[in-house]
Amino acid sequence: MDTNIEHYDFQAKETGPHLLVFGAIHGNETCGPKAIEKIMGQLKSGELELKKGRVTFVPLCNPRAYKQNVRQTEMNLNRVFKKHGNPQAYEEHLANALIPFVDQCDYFLDIHSFTAEGNPFVIQKNEDKVTDAFAKIVGPMTIMFSATDTYKGNSESVDGKTLGYAQSVNKTAVLVECGQHLDPNAPIIAEQAIMNSFIHLSLVAIPSDHVQPSGHLFVLERDMVVKPANGGELVKAWRHMDMMTKGEVLAFTGDNQPITAPYDGYVLLPKSWAEPGQEWFFLGVQKHDFL
Ligand SMILES: [Zn+2]
Repeated sequence: MDTNIEHYDFQAKETGPHLLVFGAIHGNETCGPKAIEKIMGQLKSGELELKKGRVTFVPLCNPRAYKQNVRQTEMNLNRVFKKHGNPQAYEEHLANALIPFVDQCDYFLDIHSFTAEGNPFVIQKNEDKVTDAFAKIVGPMTIMFSATDTYKGNSESVDGKTLGYAQSVNKTAVLVECGQHLDPNAPIIAEQAIMNSFIHLSLVAIPSDHVQPSGHLFVLERDMVVKPANGGELVKAWRHMDMMTKGEVLAFTGDNQPITAPYDGYVLLPKSWAEPGQEWFFLGVQKHDFL
């Protein structure tokens, strides 16, 4: 199977951190490839110069899905992102081909977009000061903490997500969700995320002592609601990050049982079009203990 991954390396004379940038883990998320192409153009022309360290770009992590403008061909690459001893699906082969890039980097920026309406946000999984600082400079003001227990029943320590794999090999990693897939602003958010990472890691000669944006909202992803076997319907067209109040009805199951908010918090990444048995929406709470 042809899983040669197109990748580009830029290395400065002076040593420094090695940043890895992924685009299009999901084939229909075009903001990453667009932003990577633009920044690589600037690096090639000399308009942008790497002062130290190294950057590796993988613009199209799922080239076949990208060509078809679909999220995935056989499996969700961001659920099978781990080493496969006997890879079967195309995305399992891709995971095996992409993992060495993560193994070799120091910092990892994974660029995505989403289907629901809503504002851009950053996801981090590691809870340490280096990751916190990285997440805060990416751009979007909302930072979501990916739950570790979302995939209960999975006995493996790695949850099959890029951030989970990066955590398992002690890499500093964040994922940026740049907005709705077709939002014309999404490639701009993606470009800023790459540039902000360059500045933060002092890879370019732009002072990194710029004032950090304040007023971040930190949200902890706590629960996943799976669409019941008998289907169901959301009570309204929830947007990502809509607030919910404890006891509020969020959705009805196919046999009209209400699904209520178990606590005050937020509705995350609702998918009204989810099939029975699929991820329907997530629930989150504000994270107060963030420093
Ligand atoms: Zn994605």
